[in-house]
Amino acid sequence: MIDRTYTGDVTPEMDGETVAIAGHVHELRDLGGLVFVIVRDREGLLQAVFKEDREPALFEDAEDLGAEDVVRIEGEVTESGQAPGGVELVPESLELIDEADAPLPLEISKDVEADLSTRLDNRGIDLRQPEVKAIFTLKSVLMDAMEDWFEREGFVDVDTPLISKGGAEGGAELFPVVYYEEEAFLSQSPQLYKQILMASGFDKIYETGTAFRAEDFATSRHVSEIAMFDVELAYIEDHDDVMDVQEESLRYALEQVAEHAEHELDELGVDLTVPDEDFPRITFDEALDILEDEFGHFPDDPTDLDTKGEKLLGEYFEEQGHPAFFVVGYPDEKFYYMQNVEGDDIASRKFDLIYKGQELSSGGQRQHDVDAMREMMQAEGVDESNFEFYLDALSYGTPPHGGYGLGIDRLVQQVCDLDNIKEAILFPRDPNRLAP
Ligand code: ATP
Ligand code: MG
Repeated sequence: MIDRTYTGDVTPEMDGETVAIAGHVHELRDLGGLVFVIVRDREGLLQAVFKEDREPALFEDAEDLGAEDVVRIEGEVTESGQAPGGVELVPESLELIDEADAPLPLEISKDVEADLSTRLDNRGIDLRQPEVKAIFTLKSVLMDAMEDWFEREGFVDVDTPLISKGGAEGGAELFPVVYYEEEAFLSQSPQLYKQILMASGFDKIYETGTAFRAEDFATSRHVSEIAMFDVELAYIEDHDDVMDVQEESLRYALEQVAEHAEHELDELGVDLTVPDEDFPRITFDEALDILEDEFGHFPDDPTDLDTKGEKLLGEYFEEQGHPAFFVVGYPDEKFYYMQNVEGDDIASRKFDLIYKGQELSSGGQRQHDVDAMREMMQAEGVDESNFEFYLDALSYGTPPHGGYGLGIDRLVQQVCDLDNIKEAILFPRDPNRLAP
């Protein structure tokens, strides 16, 4: 490895020590007889000050540098009141490792706002910006914490296939692929496989995976390739057990972000509040009542909440100090949800988690009685023959179970207060974007 110290590790207490830093030339300031070279690495920025009368040869080389060149500078750490971070380097050597072409397709050091489409066209350059990179270091902390929670709670980390004969739900949202001589589809959800694993006795599982949705519309919260966090657990009493898992794991992950991604939150200008009280759990009917009474809003589809409805409910609960809440009991749900249960005052045991006014996950208690499921499929006009492998696997004894699928990109979008979900994805895919 090339010998170097991260800029973030160079502190005023190291005054007088010699260190080497390596990174991109973030900014050059030529003041005549004096050149400031500000070097950027993963951890931040550090300036080296080249003086013509102190180190004439190095000074000349520094004057020839260009923005985004990759350099290694060795020098003496010097405490300095004026330098950002309170410290700078007095250079002893300067090595140009790789020269950058000019001009750059995007400005990195200057505060010039490019539109998202231009940024994504040049994503490799765009990701050099510290406030953009911060999103992904934060995401790493967030998902580490999430997985950590599930590991500690005894959930097994699984992987399910991404190519199958049919989809979890079928429909127009599937991407077809040519699989040898056959038509197959990219996975839209690990749903069916998670349930099979419950029948197989895995008891508690989680999967950090990928789902594909051929949405034919581009919105600020939909993409075609999604990072998904899926969970399933068995021997539950009802959907509340599933919501408990969702709530506790999310709270823990957010706490860890608040504690270990302080620098990133700072960079993004996000004031993250971790919901410490219980997340409210309201029924679907209560949600409709709030929308009608408080906002005079009626969702177009009376069996679902629309984007505006979720946003308004988000405002309503945010005002009461609850950024996250569950809506429970959506009517007319898909065949694999437990529904129309005698004694229930809700239509189904399906819930959505809404965080900062946007759906983050859907889940609930599943139907584990195959006969009841077949009846639902017939009522919904679902072709059972596409699901025989699944119905068959569940026929030989299946414990009551439930779970959810959490959209990781949406979670990152909401935690980082990003306008568009694509900002939360390194190389996003949507109906109009297949490169880079
Ligand atoms: P929506 O109604 O918001 O389109 P959905 O109810 O169709 O989402 P689910 O099938 O419930 O989505 O998927 C579970 C989670 O996956 C969602 O709550 C969301 O966080 C995420 N998700 C689903 N579709 C997309 C998408 N196209 N882009 C990004 N995230 C998605
Ligand atoms: Mg949903």
